[in-house]
Amino acid sequence: SIVVTAATGALGRLVVEELLARVPADRVAVVVRNEEKAADLAARGIEVRVADYDDPAALAGAFRPGDRVLLISGNEIGRRVAQHTAVIGAAKAAGVAQLAYTGVLGGPEADFDLAAEHTATEQAVLASGLPYTFLRNGWYHENYTRELPTVLGHGAVVASAGEGRIASAARADYAAAAAVVLTGEGHLNRVYELSGDTAWSLAEYAAEVSAQSGKEIAYTQVTADEHLRILTGAGMPEEFAAIVVDVDAAIARGRLAGTGGDLARLIGRPTAPVSGAIAAALA
Ligand code: NDP
Repeated sequence: SIVVTAATGALGRLVVEELLARVPADRVAVVVRNEEKAADLAARGIEVRVADYDDPAALAGAFRPGDRVLLISGNEIGRRVAQHTAVIGAAKAAGVAQLAYTGVLGGPEADFDLAAEHTATEQAVLASGLPYTFLRNGWYHENYTRELPTVLGHGAVVASAGEGRIASAARADYAAAAAVVLTGEGHLNRVYELSGDTAWSLAEYAAEVSAQSGKEIAYTQVTADEHLRILTGAGMPEEFAAIVVDVDAAIARGRLAGTGGDLARLIGRPTAPVSGAIAAALA
């Protein structure tokens, strides 16, 4: 089977849709921690295997010999190396044919805090000796567009990313790329640096939001310290705010700006621009 973990998450659901557009449902399986949340997938003929990343015993039953597996990184920051390593161990024990992993753009060159767990996971995949495919995902458009209500409320995009550029892409395009490597040939032991075709600055983003919304939206550049204070003042937990600020510093250094074109090549079309995601979020 083609197996998708975290299939009840935002990316996972999109990957499943992309797979169903390419192969029959009885060739697709999902590994989820919450069976109820996957009831709609089961109803469509997809095999649902239940296992939490924290549960090696359940993971031992999650994979079959020859499966082509997409390990979607979890969202429990700080716990993910152990969790992902458990998934990799189970996949190895089962003898899967392919282990694809959603890491971060730049791989080991992504030198910010959030990237460390992805680098460690890639190392665990390599150490397993399994045939791998690294899908090093850049930022989602949706990381920005989901904040639009706040941006419109304040009349400003507030960030500490300086003039750094962001080659973001739609989650749906990353999902399509994952489906391509899981259903096609020639992707074993390959690394893909996935990002949008165009990198934009937050000043350009603010200008586009202004143009589309008809409201004056500024890009307010703040220092890292100010940014941290603003985020925690708005109720964001300190630990998470520190991650956001650290990512902005990485953006200022150009770490999320790469436009190597792997995503467009995999999906066989230009990547969807951020302007479309802004329009969808405003609608
Ligand atoms: P979501 O937060 O929507 O999905 C995360 C998924 O991980 C959920 O399905 C969740 O399960 C699953 N999960 C978390 N912990 C466990 C666990 N212990 N055992 C089993 N499953 C678990 O994120 P997205 O789908 O948007 O993104 C996918 C991943 O990409 C994220 O988890 C994160 O690692 C990374 N990411 C990348 C971003 C980018 O811009 N490139 C931005 C944000 C995240 P459940 O459905 O049961 O909650």
